Amino acid sequence: MRTSRAMARAARAARVCVETGMAKKVTEWKNACNLVGVNVLFLGTGTSHGVPMIGCSCIVCRSDDPRDNRLRPSILLRGDDGVTVLVDTTPDLRQQCLRHEIAHVDAVVYTHAHADHILGFDELRRFNILSKRAMPVYGDPATLDGLQRTFGYAFDPDAPRGGGVPQTTLVPIDGPFVIGALSFRPLTVYHGGAPVLGFRIGRFAYLTDCNRVPDETVSQLDDLDVLVLDALRHRPHPTHFSLNEAVELAGRIGAGRTYFTHMCHDLGHAVTCAALPAGMTLAYDGLQFACS
Ligand SMILES: [Zn+2]
Ligand SMILES: [Zn+2]
Ligand SMILES: [Zn+2]
Repeated sequence: MRTSRAMARAARAARVCVETGMAKKVTEWKNACNLVGVNVLFLGTGTSHGVPMIGCSCIVCRSDDPRDNRLRPSILLRGDDGVTVLVDTTPDLRQQCLRHEIAHVDAVVYTHAHADHILGFDELRRFNILSKRAMPVYGDPATLDGLQRTFGYAFDPDAPRGGGVPQTTLVPIDGPFVIGALSFRPLTVYHGGAPVLGFRIGRFAYLTDCNRVPDETVSQLDDLDVLVLDALRHRPHPTHFSLNEAVELAGRIGAGRTYFTHMCHDLGHAVTCAALPAGMTLAYDGLQFACS
């Protein structure tokens, strides 16, 4: 007999829109979008080196499976009003936007200021030109400090402007916030010793780059359709969840479906997914879905 917890999980899973596979173009993505809740497109699911890694000839780096080809970690969110929010600007942002024909972004939300999450910041110039406005950029104070240090030229009124610099409006995150139809609840997770942000949007939560989720945050992850969680590799790591650690936490959170992200080349997609519990799988670049 199924427990009430298992029945609740099955009900949440049933609410999740069926995956529509790899979206090559944003037009395909828009057509697949539900007109409720949040639509999610994975722009990158790899760790900081990406997969394949430079100079590696391992079986995953040489794999023909497109799901083993991972750009740096980022997602694109779209609300039912069409508002489009980019989570992190990776070093692969230009390639990600070209791949999916992304020509409009309403705002950028940052999880933290590590290089693999911010080094595409300069690409925001194109969105400035296309939209003729500054880009709202949301982050916690430490992340906004990190952006200003790393991209000092973009914030120095005396810096030479040849070629243009990203025009942004920095918005410090100090609690829940709303962008169009998308309501964000920031969640504290720990990435080594450092607190970084995850986000809950409706019944979707994105927790990349973490190796500890405090109980206060777990308590805010009830009744999720979809959880996205960091899972770097099999071996333990000082700042990222291993796959076993991530599976254990995902089981406790009990989302309808869990996708793992930020994987390194140790985790081949097909082999790894075959050994995961029901309702859990690795995400892959181009994966898209909608949830309430
Ligand atoms: Zn490799
Ligand atoms: Zn990081
Ligand atoms: Zn990272």
